[in-house]
Amino acid sequence: MKTFYVTTPIYYANSLPHLGHLYTMIVADTIARAKRQRGIETYFLTGTDEHGINIERAAQRAGRTPKEQADYVVSYYKKMTAEFGLDTEHGGYDIFMRTTAPFHYQGVSEFWRKVAKAKTPKGNDAIYKGHYEGWFCAACAEYKTEDEYAKPKAEGEPPTCLVHDTPLDRVSEESYFFRLSDYAEALLEVFESRPDFVRPEARRNEVISFVRGGLQDLSVSRLKSSVSWGIPVPDDPEHTMYVWFDALINYITAIGYGNEERERAVGFKKYWPALHLVGKDILRFHAVYWPAFLIAAGVELPCAIVAHGMWLDPNGRKMSKTLGNTIELDVLQKHFSIDAIRYFCLREMVFGQDGRFGYEALIDRSNSDLASGLGNLSSRTLTMIARYCDSRIPSGVIPEDKLLLAKRTGVDTDETTVAGFIEHARDQFLLHFENLAFSRALEAAWSVVARIDKMITDAKPWDLAKDENQKQTLGVILYRAAESLRWLSVLLHPVMPGASQAMWNQLGLQGSPAQTNPSELKWGELKEGSSIGDVQPVFPRIDKANVMAEINAAEEPAGVHATEADAVAGSASAQETQPAPPMKHATEADAVGVTSFIEIDDFAKVDLRVGQVLSAERVPKADKLLLMKIDIGEEQPRQVLAGIAQYYEPEKMIGRKVVVVANLKPRKLRGFESQGMVVAASYGEEGRPVIATFTEDVPNGARLK
Ligand SMILES: [Zn+2]
Repeated sequence: MKTFYVTTPIYYANSLPHLGHLYTMIVADTIARAKRQRGIETYFLTGTDEHGINIERAAQRAGRTPKEQADYVVSYYKKMTAEFGLDTEHGGYDIFMRTTAPFHYQGVSEFWRKVAKAKTPKGNDAIYKGHYEGWFCAACAEYKTEDEYAKPKAEGEPPTCLVHDTPLDRVSEESYFFRLSDYAEALLEVFESRPDFVRPEARRNEVISFVRGGLQDLSVSRLKSSVSWGIPVPDDPEHTMYVWFDALINYITAIGYGNEERERAVGFKKYWPALHLVGKDILRFHAVYWPAFLIAAGVELPCAIVAHGMWLDPNGRKMSKTLGNTIELDVLQKHFSIDAIRYFCLREMVFGQDGRFGYEALIDRSNSDLASGLGNLSSRTLTMIARYCDSRIPSGVIPEDKLLLAKRTGVDTDETTVAGFIEHARDQFLLHFENLAFSRALEAAWSVVARIDKMITDAKPWDLAKDENQKQTLGVILYRAAESLRWLSVLLHPVMPGASQAMWNQLGLQGSPAQTNPSELKWGELKEGSSIGDVQPVFPRIDKANVMAEINAAEEPAGVHATEADAVAGSASAQETQPAPPMKHATEADAVGVTSFIEIDDFAKVDLRVGQVLSAERVPKADKLLLMKIDIGEEQPRQVLAGIAQYYEPEKMIGRKVVVVANLKPRKLRGFESQGMVVAASYGEEGRPVIATFTEDVPNGARLK
């Protein structure tokens, strides 16, 4: 029996899951489903790495034990995997691995003992005891060399981590070392003899040059007195294993290495070696340290280590909380289907390179490729079968006596033409998929969508339906379309499990595309005469303007909230101490109550200025918006958009004094940048805005306090 084993990294349990985690899991999940669909027994691992000083400190701060701290973070991962259909219940991972599992302790101890007894290729002890002194970043869980930290700003201060911008700790202690320096040649030999071992090529080259640059021995333990939250070194409990050493070994302990019960339940012998998916930022650990550890322990190396790129924002910048350009998982979950998100991730990122992720791009792709493309093909085909063929799959063959008639309409009477096209597209799809070139695989599938769409448009079934003599010709066109949809639902199962099952059901098929091996698909197996199911849109169109408005409104800070039409809320008497819900739609109700106390410092963060409207005009095609130039005492007037056009004539605004939120992050509305916000009250069901103003004279730019 063929088996397959795929892993995501196990994520360090010191931060909550984000898009990067979701993405790797989606890729691993897609690969796992594809293997299972081909009848290969598959094991899919994801999980969390839970030891080390960083967890210990976070736990201290939160008043928890380290295990409780890990449990807390893990609960968010479990929630995410359930919501995005990636957990066992939804056919996703087989194990959510946690390095606090007792069988992991046992397996790691066994592994350590093996390595401790081993000799390096140069005949030295693979592990030795020494002293280490260096600058250590707790968050990175690694010592930093000179080019990996920022020099101290003042004398006597520690250098800071380039990644975390936090001060490094000077660590000097007795430590066990792994003699990595003796493994450079052995590793280079692996990279040489197995060109696919590290992928893609560019990453492989980086790894090779890193190894050629010379390897330093790795400190693999800390004194228990400095780090106690970890796995004790076997036979020397004064030492705790270095968190990365223990974490990497999870890939084998999860399936049974060093634990008989686990071996029986899963099977290290059965599943190892694995395909490791990693982000490029942790490639060195997986492509250099991990193989060296495995060589030392006498364990077979992984099948491959594949590094994927990072998601950037639509402008190609790194995503960060400070820039405010992150993609939020709860926003994805609220507004998009799991299938659309999966499709976007796999279609948009050329695997291995960086990709760009924006909500608008996701909506556009979803609407063009899914709603208008595949979804429309499916619903128009099935609707016509319902209408013209009494909801039964028509025959795919034109009888001899109708051949000439069919030819006259321009229909290709040779069904092997379309069958050949689709078989070729299927082969391309599978080939690219096997090479993890998901984007190209999906292109191949969509070439079928385009081809069948064109076939339908050219044949004009609605005209054929008017001629009783062309009934069979019409039937053949619809048969070919329906049979193509059957193939597509099988091909697309790993990428969009929900939608592919829905398409399958609507075709009236039994079973599941998940159990249909795509390489065994044969043209013409869709049965003539069988009834189709209920026709429903597989991919509903997303209303871009509405969804984007909702997303943007939700992103705004709660509190003083003014105006893209509806969103206007004055604050209120702070009578209530309930925490305010994030203000999605400010209504009168919001204006009267429910807010929480803030500190004076919180208020001081909002820079409110007196402004005077210099000009005001309507925005084309946006009947709620006014575009104003407002003087707030700066060199240049601000351009501000406000959703007040239904209540305020532009001419009447000119010259008025208003209150402007001057430090609001600029944003685009209808293609215009709004550099601030006009404060207004809001009342009534429709949220009628009333602009805040002054009865006494006050100079432009004066600050409200
Ligand atoms: Zn760091």
